[in-house]
Amino acid sequence: MLPVIALVGRPNVGKSTLFNRLTRSRDALVADLPGLTRDRKYGEGRVGGCDYIVIDTGGISGDEAGIDQRMAEQSLLAIDEADIVLFLVDGRAGLNPADEMIADHLRRNNKECWLVVNKTDGIDPDTAMADFYTLGIGQPVPIAAAHGRNVTSLIDEVLAPFMPDEEALAAEEAEKEKDDSIRIAVIGRPNVGKSTLVNRMLGEDRVVVYDQAGTTRDSIYIPYERDGQPYTLIDTAGVRRRKHITEAVEKFSIVKTLQAIKDANVVISVIDAQEGVTEQDLNMLGFVIDSGRALVVALNKWDGMTPEKREHVKSQVERRLEFAAFARFHFISALHGSGVGDLYASVNEAYDCAMAKWSTNQLTRLLEDVVADHQPPAINNRRIKLRYAHQGGSNPPIIVVHGNQTAALPGSYKRYLENRFIRYLKVRGTPIRFEFKTSD
Ligand code: GDP
Ligand code: GDP
Repeated sequence: MLPVIALVGRPNVGKSTLFNRLTRSRDALVADLPGLTRDRKYGEGRVGGCDYIVIDTGGISGDEAGIDQRMAEQSLLAIDEADIVLFLVDGRAGLNPADEMIADHLRRNNKECWLVVNKTDGIDPDTAMADFYTLGIGQPVPIAAAHGRNVTSLIDEVLAPFMPDEEALAAEEAEKEKDDSIRIAVIGRPNVGKSTLVNRMLGEDRVVVYDQAGTTRDSIYIPYERDGQPYTLIDTAGVRRRKHITEAVEKFSIVKTLQAIKDANVVISVIDAQEGVTEQDLNMLGFVIDSGRALVVALNKWDGMTPEKREHVKSQVERRLEFAAFARFHFISALHGSGVGDLYASVNEAYDCAMAKWSTNQLTRLLEDVVADHQPPAINNRRIKLRYAHQGGSNPPIIVVHGNQTAALPGSYKRYLENRFIRYLKVRGTPIRFEFKTSD
């Protein structure tokens, strides 16, 4: 499980700045809750060997009414979801009543909490920190988020208890090796039809369900078999849980979604065709692709749409989802069951491609053919040579191409080579990564 870090603090202390520094460049996922002006933002990052999820919030100003009130509620929700809270204060502005209010809340909340004094660039950190000991949150840590000062070492320290040790990693690997099921995560915005689809896919009779206790943050893992192939469905929609727990649980959770993507072999990304492709859909797909997972896209609620509307959505899908063109697209109705069974063929194909093994021999011969058809250009009167290729990983497949001056390979040539590999290896449904290494 990825550790979850929440950034809280009053507005303007530098939470967004720190968030951007801690996450990859891609657009953040924003909790899609109606009526909120600035919701929780979610991103993924990695420091040292440790991946994590970061949540940023609008902030808590101490003067909570209207929008501020809602932002404060978001911060509290983020704290609930987090393993670690980074409480940011402004080292230049000094202590503020809102800081004290937040500290109060955090002390009562009993979460693992770090007091982070930001904006200590160009000022004496000790003087800047002196003010904040009275908050009673422990030893303050000075950083300058805007310049990245002390940020990596802070995160290193914060994540130390979550760093998997070698033994745990090996055990986890062994566990995964033993599990021969295809792990499928069904993800999507609230109300796109995930629960309906999960129920359809499981088609009660053939399912052996093991009920597992879990917090609202965890997905339920449902092992089952279909046509002799074992699967594990990672249910982010909480279908199974809702049967047993009567109290309202927040059904949709981005943390849950990100964890499920991480843990899956293949992701089924559900989009509401009647609503069309939204920004949130695109961002979620971006996360799936970044994490290298195999992907099947299900455009749901295809029933009850006029032919004109269908044409419109199809062309929108072609335009907006071009970056996911490696995936198969299905137009389905989870409600009526049409097209649902067909998803499995694409899931299986995507899994097989994601896990495919190619020998160095095979890849090198393919490389030779590709190069013979179209030579890389010469740089400084010296032709770029590509010598051999080997596989560097799977799910996603990684192809490592060795040669000289590979850093100078033009983007157009890389695309030519990648497209040829994808075509000849018949890779479908999974992203594939290419690495170019210079060995002279
Ligand atoms: P948020 O409202 O808490 O998300 O705060 P922002 O990240 O938007 O930052 C508020 C202001 O503080 C911006 O003008 C930032 O450029 C500035 N800021 C953030 N981090 C630092 C820092 O480390 N040093 C200095 N001097 N300014 C910073
Ligand atoms: P979730 O929040 O993504 O799990 O969405 P649900 O499965 O709870 O579905 C949300 C709403 O959409 C419910 O009212 C469903 O009956 C409806 N729905 C789900 N799938 C379809 C479909 O294929 N067609 C239509 N017309 N409605 C659907």
